[in-house]
Amino acid sequence: MPSATSSSSKVSSPPAAWRSSSPPRAGPSTRTPPPQHVCAAVNAQVTSIPGLAPPHFDFAEHVRSRSYTMQNFVFGDDPFETAVLLDEGVERLLPDTFQRACASPSCTFEIGDAGEKGRGMFAVKDMPAGALVLVEHPAVVVPYLIGLDVPLRDVYAELFGRLPPEAHRALMGLANSREDCDHREGIVRTNALGIQLDVPDVAHPELTTHRAVFLNTSRCNHSCGPNARWEWDTASFALYLSAVRPIQQGEEITIAYTACTRPRGERHSTLHAQYGFTCACTYCALPCAAASDAARVALARFWSDLPPFEAWCVDGRTPDEWLVKRHLEALRLIKQEGLQVLDAERHVDAIAMCYGALADVEMFRAWTERVREREARRVWVGVEGRERARRRALVFAKWLSNPASFPAWGWRRTFCVSKVEGEEEGKGEDVV
Ligand SMILES: [Zn+2]
Repeated sequence: MPSATSSSSKVSSPPAAWRSSSPPRAGPSTRTPPPQHVCAAVNAQVTSIPGLAPPHFDFAEHVRSRSYTMQNFVFGDDPFETAVLLDEGVERLLPDTFQRACASPSCTFEIGDAGEKGRGMFAVKDMPAGALVLVEHPAVVVPYLIGLDVPLRDVYAELFGRLPPEAHRALMGLANSREDCDHREGIVRTNALGIQLDVPDVAHPELTTHRAVFLNTSRCNHSCGPNARWEWDTASFALYLSAVRPIQQGEEITIAYTACTRPRGERHSTLHAQYGFTCACTYCALPCAAASDAARVALARFWSDLPPFEAWCVDGRTPDEWLVKRHLEALRLIKQEGLQVLDAERHVDAIAMCYGALADVEMFRAWTERVREREARRVWVGVEGRERARRRALVFAKWLSNPASFPAWGWRRTFCVSKVEGEEEGKGEDVV
């Protein structure tokens, strides 16, 4: 638990209990679930999200059993407040105080006119890959599933009303692409990012998913090849937005609203249904959708289709350069499709490992240096992440000065040769 001087208070005003029955203290068993067709729709929606729900999620039962609190979070000396609606079971599991978030860098972006897309976020200076663009607490947070049978417009009106006037004005100024719900709910559903409040030992995993609206990051428009990514850190209750490739001054800063490895047509359908626009990003403007789709599918399947590194080390049938070529091809496709957000760094790591296994001192040092430089630029979220980065930096320094200290040094030279010799003796098969 952090000390009082390095932490933030969780509650700034008395929490209000939200229960959907009248009188408010009535037991859960008196709760009236929403109409059957609403429950069926929510059940289908929830169970379609991998990892979110148990196989037999029952929204009607969920409504009967949940209660909520509404409160404001404040963050140390930061005057910013977050208005939250939380399931009481989740609220109890959150820490009493949050760690202080990293300071947000100054003068990295501005909000400006993005043409037909409305407003957008733009870089005000050049930033390298890995640079931190901003750190931001959310304005409002609500559960992904709200099991209340009172009108949600009342819930959202009270939640928005808890914000200071300036934040309230900024929130009400965000876009609303939804016509199927109340205006405030529409603002949340249009602009929210999905965050996981990774509370320990929660009995219902589906309860940890929340919608969070951020006054700046929610201004980021979508691209199918975004130049930035965000990470959520529950310990500091903050979002970290960083560049995934170099961003030039004046360039729009974009994030992905949907899975970018899906085919173009599917992405467009999802974006149109959920946000009401047709994507015209640089990558959707590439002339051959089929080639782009094939590249994205190949990248999505890359790691599951790839034999383990250890298998290549002992497989005498594949050429020495085979695995390096696979990773270089993946990096080419990533650049073509602008998908650095897909953890492109793993391929650079893997190429360094390959050259280590091949005992190629020059290439091992060159690729390991790339890894080291990247890690030195990257902003690590949370205390654990920063400590892990410090330890990794020491390991890279050791490998660079003495490549033979790399754990898999020369594996392919050692194990592959002996296997080939063994097979030649035993079977007489052709070996590449
Ligand atoms: Zn697009």
